[in-house]
Amino acid sequence: MEGRMQDWPLIVSRVLEYAARWHPAQEIVCRTVEGPVIISSYADLARRARLCALALQCLGIRHGDVVGTLAWNTTRHLESWYGIMGIGAVCHTLNPRLSDSDIAYIADHGQDRIIFADTTFLPILGRIWQQLPLLEAVVVLTDRQHMPAPSPDLPPKLLCYEQLLDAATPQLSSFAWPELDENTPCGLCYTSGTTGNPKGVRYSHRSNFLHSFIVTQPDALCIGAENSMLMVVPMFHANSWGVNFAAPMVGCRLVLPGPALDGASMYHMIEAYKVDVTAMVPTVVVGLLQHLAAHNTSLRSLRRLVIGGAAAPRSMIETLERSGIEVRHMWGMTELSPVGSIGLPTGPQLAEGMSDDDLLDRKACQGRPHVLCDMRLVDDSGEVLPHDGSAVGDLQVRGPIVVQQYHRHEQRTVDAERWFSTGDVASIDQHGTMKISDRSKDVVKSGGEWISSIALENTAAGHPKVLEAAVIAIPDERWGERPLLIVVPQPHAGDSEALRLEVLQYMASHPQVAKFARPDDVVVLPEIPHTATGKVSKLTLRKMFEGYKPRPAGGLSKL
Ligand code: AMP
Repeated sequence: MEGRMQDWPLIVSRVLEYAARWHPAQEIVCRTVEGPVIISSYADLARRARLCALALQCLGIRHGDVVGTLAWNTTRHLESWYGIMGIGAVCHTLNPRLSDSDIAYIADHGQDRIIFADTTFLPILGRIWQQLPLLEAVVVLTDRQHMPAPSPDLPPKLLCYEQLLDAATPQLSSFAWPELDENTPCGLCYTSGTTGNPKGVRYSHRSNFLHSFIVTQPDALCIGAENSMLMVVPMFHANSWGVNFAAPMVGCRLVLPGPALDGASMYHMIEAYKVDVTAMVPTVVVGLLQHLAAHNTSLRSLRRLVIGGAAAPRSMIETLERSGIEVRHMWGMTELSPVGSIGLPTGPQLAEGMSDDDLLDRKACQGRPHVLCDMRLVDDSGEVLPHDGSAVGDLQVRGPIVVQQYHRHEQRTVDAERWFSTGDVASIDQHGTMKISDRSKDVVKSGGEWISSIALENTAAGHPKVLEAAVIAIPDERWGERPLLIVVPQPHAGDSEALRLEVLQYMASHPQVAKFARPDDVVVLPEIPHTATGKVSKLTLRKMFEGYKPRPAGGLSKL
């Protein structure tokens, strides 16, 4: 006997058509690459996505073909996602912040036949197109007026996006999205590749559809038709946390920042378009907070901020919550579509009573897994560890939004029971709250003890003169490894050496820092290097501080 409900594949064109039919006038506000802010609607988005689909078919793109995008968060980029995916092709987002050689590797490995690119990123393609033998053309996401003149610095075959859409218009009335199998691949996103070559995660229509439900949930972004969401997380990073599907799915107003991701521009967009929800990585939050502090101003409409992609320091959460913005801390990875855990305290936790301090401690943790992300901790021998808040082990996940096999890899990347090892080290308490201590490769292993670099960074970020903090392990003859703390000062923090001593003293006297975990030294730098996805680049820091010998307080550098 089978269930007797309708077979209705979960494909992303349904999300788009739902938004166009039931929220046709809901706005999409976009700061364009050309400069002006343009307001369109979900009805416009669907119409133009259909035109984009027709244009792709004219260019010979068929089911299963891969089309790259190298673009900011704009309406044109959004409609091209739906246009590509809707006809059964695969939308491959390329991260422009990576090195040329990484982008070339990723576009070639992805087998991109066409790349949709913003004018801003054409020079990148001009430098690498010869390494992409499968690339047939570059579609420039602009109008005729802004098309660049041919140049030896640009790829040879440039097509104008708006012209392609105009040419497809006569066929629009006869267009219908194909009925695809929900397991058809629709998105491709490569991981940062800190070890070996970058690896491609291939999302399906079904995984994106299901994941978007999670993103809209009350304990997650909690968005609906009455909300206005600033989509800061780039579409070229980790499936833009699913917001491109989640917002149309509930008719939420979308505000797209285009290339303007500095604190001042984000402040302007939030204020001007009454944004009440947004999501971003901690480094971008730092830029926004700096703007607010420098102009002694606040965000009047913003109610909820989801922070993820890297650990949100407790002090950052506190600052935001004090100004009336509710923070939700999300953990995820490209391999998970990407949201894995998020969430508020549970009823029993609240019933036990939580002081403001307890609540902040809880918020600095990475939350509970959602219903589509089974989660467990294992030790080095694969034994499952208890959820007691103190056992620390490797974090594993499985579920319909979790990767099974990387793009064009022979081997599955999960074990026989489909557990995927995240490479993160974590604990889970009796309430199901997960806390990341580190990436396994970033843990400081000192004299048999493990020191969490994230915990030290969080503590250091709480010092009023510290803007950003990073901890790396440096080799030590006696202990194996010792923690080195690197800090970026707040503006007007004063003399670096005085700050160094102050922070050393602060860490040594902080109740949350065990004696063995105190950093051996503090280095004050004007800035900390970041990866292409906005995380602290510990790889670069480790290279910068190779051979560094900690100084005693007041001593001279021994580099
Ligand atoms: P990516 O695939 O580039 O998004 O990177 C995923 C990795 O980022 C995870 O495996 C974690 O190491 C880290 N990460 C993401 N969110 C958090 C968070 N809230 N706290 C700590 N680390 C995080």
